[in-house]
Amino acid sequence: MDEKFVEKMKKLLLESKEDIMRSLISESREFEAIVEDMDPKDLADVAADDIDKKTLEALNATEVKRLKLIESALSRIKNGRYGLCMRCGKKIPKARLEAIPYALMCIDCKSSEERSSK
Ligand SMILES: [Zn+2]
Repeated sequence: MDEKFVEKMKKLLLESKEDIMRSLISESREFEAIVEDMDPKDLADVAADDIDKKTLEALNATEVKRLKLIESALSRIKNGRYGLCMRCGKKIPKARLEAIPYALMCIDCKSSEERSSK
C-alpha cells in the first residue's frame, strides 16, 4: 500500500473520529465529563477502550461501532496492515477504502460474513 495513500486515509480516519467524538459529546453529558477528565490534547487521541463500557453502551450504538472500526483501522495503519483484508489478507481495493476508510475486509469476505451472520 503506498504511503501517500495511507497517510491520506489516516487523516480522514482521524477527522471522522473527531466528528464522532464531538457528536457523542453533544449527545451525552456523561461522555463529555469523561473526555474532560482525560483532558486530551486532541479528541482523536481518546481511545474508545479507555471509556467505561457502560458509558459506551449508553451512547449511540451506531456511532460507537463506527468509532471502534476507525480505531481498528488506525491500529492497522500503525502496524502496517492497513488495506489488507483482515480475513483473507488480500489487498482491499483503493476505491473501497476511499469510500469506507475503515473497511477492514475485502468485499468478498465482507459479503460472505454478512451472509453467514444472517
Ligand atoms: Zn478478504
